[in-house]
Amino acid sequence: MEPMLSVEDALERVLSVFSPLEPERVPILESVDRVLAKDVYADMDIPPHANSSMDGYAVLAADTARASRESPARLRIVGELAAGYVTETPVTPGTAIRIMTGAPIPPGADAVVKVEDTVSQGEWVDVFAAPPVGQYIRPAGEDVRQGSLVLPRGVLVRPQEIGMLATLGRAEVAIVRRPRVAILATGDEVVEIEAPLAPGKIRNANSYSNAAQVIMCGGIPIMLGIARDRIEDLTEKIRMGLAQGVDLFLTSGGVSVGDFDIVKNVLATEGEIHFWRVRMKPGKPLAFGQIDDPTTGSKRPVPVLGLPGNPVSVMLSFEMFVRPAIFEMLGRTDWPRPRVEAALMDEIPHKDNRRHYVRVRVEEQAGEYRAFLTGGQGSGILSSMVKANGLAIIPEDWTHAPAGARVSVLLLD
Ligand code: AMP
Ligand code: MG
Repeated sequence: MEPMLSVEDALERVLSVFSPLEPERVPILESVDRVLAKDVYADMDIPPHANSSMDGYAVLAADTARASRESPARLRIVGELAAGYVTETPVTPGTAIRIMTGAPIPPGADAVVKVEDTVSQGEWVDVFAAPPVGQYIRPAGEDVRQGSLVLPRGVLVRPQEIGMLATLGRAEVAIVRRPRVAILATGDEVVEIEAPLAPGKIRNANSYSNAAQVIMCGGIPIMLGIARDRIEDLTEKIRMGLAQGVDLFLTSGGVSVGDFDIVKNVLATEGEIHFWRVRMKPGKPLAFGQIDDPTTGSKRPVPVLGLPGNPVSVMLSFEMFVRPAIFEMLGRTDWPRPRVEAALMDEIPHKDNRRHYVRVRVEEQAGEYRAFLTGGQGSGILSSMVKANGLAIIPEDWTHAPAGARVSVLLLD
């Protein structure tokens, strides 16, 4: 009998063989939704120069210290400065320089009066406000200090990261290579989706749901089709997949206790494999290990996860083990899904000592989150997965989950 492991123990063992993949350099717009491979430090101050945050006049605060609407300070305008230009003319006592938003603060000036607080005529301006030193001046380095860590490696690149890279003058950036994930379905009953459905056959759902999960995690699915429940066919397809150069190998089906569940045996002859029963439902059987690639003789064995065959089990096993593994290869540590506490609205009977991940729809009602079962919870009922936006976690030690119980829900989208 295979050992029974908690989800956490199984995950820890799985993650122990993964580490971040090597970086690649791309133009920054190709890095959207990818993961930074290297820390990005600022090699300059942002903004590079002190500049005005208002249209108005650059002044000496001392000149306007007593200015008011009743007794304005009258200053001589000695220049005009638009954004994008610099001036050598200093602001000296009794003078001001007309300045636009974004223009560098001219030498001497220590404050800006906004244009609404002034009236100008010819070369003179009357100032009605008494700005403190520094008023409407954005100092150099206010946003980012030269030498500081701006973007740590491991973060997902969003539009704001792109803006920061552009500001820092980075046209290219190092991101982590996308993991290549081989996906092999198994089963004599399983046929490709475009094939006609003969009696006794079902279509290959698993390879496609898994491939979509790989894509959403930032990986590249390598579709290997379907292996028949025969040792030669499985062996051949596994070797063919390895020959394509993959970072992770996934199979579905054939890891439970049926007579034709030979995936276990084949994996065991191709490498070092462990078979576990994981204390979760759905998704109890799991094979995990590393297989060698005899075709290319590659030095590094490829991690393999033999996922269960039922269409919901395979997705949940992916969620619990493969997604974290892909994140690990990407150097991301933020794989835990957001959770909310919710009131379970439907009873869940017949609880065994595994952790149940129950397909629910979470809604905010009457000031709390409520979790409604989306349908049958059998491991092959994909329609309740389709309707779900969350997985309610019913702990191992609960004998049943009554309606009204407070549960933690993983949010899937
Ligand atoms: P197995 O563990 O191979 O006995 O598979 C468990 C259940 O999942 C069986 O009912 C299979 O028909 C089904 N199944 C296996 N592979 C697939 C697949 N690729 N797509 C849809 N259902 C599958
Ligand atoms: Mg099978």
